[in-house]
Amino acid sequence: MSKLKPILFGTAFALVAGPALAQEEQFITIGTGGQTGVYYVVGQSICRLVNRDTAETGLRCTAPATGGSIDNINQIKSGGMTMGVAQSDWQFHAYNGSSDFEGDAFDKLRAVFSVHAEPFTVVARADSGIEKFEDLAGKRVNVGNPGSGTRGTFEIVLDTMGMSMDDFSLSSELRPAEQSAALGDNQVDAISYTVGHPNGSIQEATSTVDARLVTVAGDAIDSLIAENPYYAKATIPGGMYAGNDEDTETFGVKATFVTSEDIPEETVYQVVKAVFDNFDRFKGLHPAFANLTPEEMVADGNSAPLHPGAERYYREQGWVE
Ligand code: GLU
Repeated sequence: MSKLKPILFGTAFALVAGPALAQEEQFITIGTGGQTGVYYVVGQSICRLVNRDTAETGLRCTAPATGGSIDNINQIKSGGMTMGVAQSDWQFHAYNGSSDFEGDAFDKLRAVFSVHAEPFTVVARADSGIEKFEDLAGKRVNVGNPGSGTRGTFEIVLDTMGMSMDDFSLSSELRPAEQSAALGDNQVDAISYTVGHPNGSIQEATSTVDARLVTVAGDAIDSLIAENPYYAKATIPGGMYAGNDEDTETFGVKATFVTSEDIPEETVYQVVKAVFDNFDRFKGLHPAFANLTPEEMVADGNSAPLHPGAERYYREQGWVE
């Protein structure tokens, strides 16, 4: 006779005896971006590694598509997400209460690590004649969905260049997953995306229509970089996308992984441990991760304080004092 005896509770039953139950499960959610971007792969990759250890840690991780950086930060603040990916400029503004977060600082925002570089990327139909950012004047431009870091940074560039949305004949707010098709269908002349390379979205845009990466440079951009530590010059290498054999000059940010001070130390520690104990596996999950090093991920792009759970792991590894 079996040692396990079903006990009936009305229509449901439970088994008694047998092995000790695994630790109670704790669900964690990671805010990403659109499914054609790199944030989605960051979140899915972290969850994949975390979920290998669910039996020991009790952590069960999901990484749904979201509107992007600013949406993720707001959802972490409201408790709707445990962690999320956000551009380094929006991490800075959210923590310091500047720019779009003016008067609304999120002082419990905590950095976990930074990930890949994200060049500010504009792609234009070749038949539009657009070669540099200033040429967007008078054109139909997809400026990105509200809540995305792309959109926020696009507005900053407009301001820096002394331009505004009124300079465009049309400004649309399509999400990343929709905008490449809109470019191909000639509904817009140009699209924008602050994103790691290579990525599926820009690949789609440049393979469905003859399209060019647009130069974003000049004195105004040089001053923007000089005045803000989270911006740096960036180059999108030639040969990565069809019809774009030359390097494209622009500027960019880092993708960063963030959370709230309210998330327990042990939870963040286990997530960080899952990534760095399996770092080669993590790096193999997307070409944009290929050159990551733990030392840079701990040091660069993080303007909010490190979460204590992350700091604990980095101290154990000798990566921080
Ligand atoms: N940087 C973009 C944003 O915050 C998202 C890029 C991606 O999904 O890879 O909107």
